[in-house]
Amino acid sequence: MTFKNTLLSINDLTVTFSKSNCRSSIHAINHFNLKLNEGEIGCLLGPSGSGKSTVLRAICGFEHLKSGLIQLRKKVISSPRFEHPSHLRGIGMVFQDFSLFPHLTVIENITFGLQGLSSKNKQLKATQWLDRVLLLDKADSYPYELSGGEQQRVALARAMAPEPSLILLDEPFSSLDLELREQLALDFRALLKSRNMTTLMVTHNQTEAFTIADKVGVVCRGELLQWDTPYQIYHHPTNQFVAEFIGQSFFLKGIVLENDRIKTELGEMPFNSNYRTEIGQTLEVLIRAENVQLEVNGAIRATIINKAFRGAMYLYTLKLDSGTNIVAFNSSHHCLEVGEKIGVCLDNKQTPHVMKNPQS
Ligand code: ADP
Ligand code: MG
Repeated sequence: MTFKNTLLSINDLTVTFSKSNCRSSIHAINHFNLKLNEGEIGCLLGPSGSGKSTVLRAICGFEHLKSGLIQLRKKVISSPRFEHPSHLRGIGMVFQDFSLFPHLTVIENITFGLQGLSSKNKQLKATQWLDRVLLLDKADSYPYELSGGEQQRVALARAMAPEPSLILLDEPFSSLDLELREQLALDFRALLKSRNMTTLMVTHNQTEAFTIADKVGVVCRGELLQWDTPYQIYHHPTNQFVAEFIGQSFFLKGIVLENDRIKTELGEMPFNSNYRTEIGQTLEVLIRAENVQLEVNGAIRATIINKAFRGAMYLYTLKLDSGTNIVAFNSSHHCLEVGEKIGVCLDNKQTPHVMKNPQS
């Protein structure tokens, strides 16, 4: 599918909150820029308190802008001097806690938000949406009679039924158990895509972000550090925080050689750099745990200092003779013990490695 038109555009957004008992203020969002195309699913990923919810709240019109501009289909909906009323923005929101009306049945929760239709057509539309989220048989149940995953599907149907221009999802799966989360994220993605619904979601869970999103934005301290496809975010982080926040990895010192190769403690390898490099320069290379191989007779030795079971794999932490700590995934069928010495090498097929900015 090709994405053509920009639907949501955020330019230079800054939102501040004043600190209680103090005249100073905190910049919850700091010169934030983002463009989301029609039909695209974007996901803001970042640690708790990084400003993700504040961005969604600003898009909804619940936060005052200190500076910047938010546009929907090229129309300004928020600026420091203008706020289009929230209920007229054509935005649907799904909150972390579902926020279903407890005294209304499932079908009443959905018909409640449908304006300008006869009651017969409201019923018809709500029934279609319940069918899409596979909850037709729960139409007359109350929210407390549903499981967490079912409540979340009702919340999504309620937000989508009025066919808004944009759907915002704030940590929609965070109160559900792990197993359910991934399946629900896949179901949500299929449903949103089937209706070509432009969506911006926030989460602090990278598996969820990668499962659902076309584009992922990594947020740290109110700034958007990178906005890219999940593949680019994982394999080509442009920033040290992004590199360390995503996946399991470590940095290793290396010296730049001729022919675009770099020499490290784990051997020579090709590399790919976002920065200009010179022969003889010392740099740090980002290496992912899945690119380190453990081999019984390897020449470069390391001691296992920790291990964590990850289902198909163990994640090992190892100390090289130089004292540097590295991480490596290895099949969980082959269990190595803490204290054991083992050979380590790099999987040469898995390049390029991304450079750490020497200035950062
Ligand atoms: P996230 O959703 O990424 O966890 P938030 O957007 O909720 O982060 O918060 C970003 C920052 O703004 C945090 O430091 C938080 O404490 C602060 N903050 C959020 N809302 C308010 C508020 N209403 N008053 C004061 N500070 C706030
Ligand atoms: Mg939040």
